[in-house]
Amino acid sequence: MDALRPTRIERLDQMTLRIEWGDGFSAAIPLELLRHSCPCAYCQGEQVFGTTVMLPLQQYAAGMNELVALEPVGNYGVRARWADGHNTGIYTWQLLRELAQKVEQEKTTHSPDTEDEA
Ligand SMILES: [Zn+2]
Repeated sequence: MDALRPTRIERLDQMTLRIEWGDGFSAAIPLELLRHSCPCAYCQGEQVFGTTVMLPLQQYAAGMNELVALEPVGNYGVRARWADGHNTGIYTWQLLRELAQKVEQEKTTHSPDTEDEA
């Protein structure tokens, strides 16, 4: 389980978060994607027994992709505080890892640098 814990989380720039893991994997995650993937019931809707009982309410707000702070939650994740005041989303290490892998995967499949070579 510990291999899935980030060893380092840093702001690369205003719009990007860079995360490193103990197994050497690292990725730059756009804050927009991070916000879009907010796991809270408000953003994702709530499901009970496979039925959506609450629709996702996420919509554009000023500052919504602007990260104010990441607060540690126990030893399993971080709570993100956004400039629009939203702070109910807790990103577990596992979720961060999934997002990072998604980003890396998209980068390798769409990268124009590797297309003509080889
Ligand atoms: Zn949310």
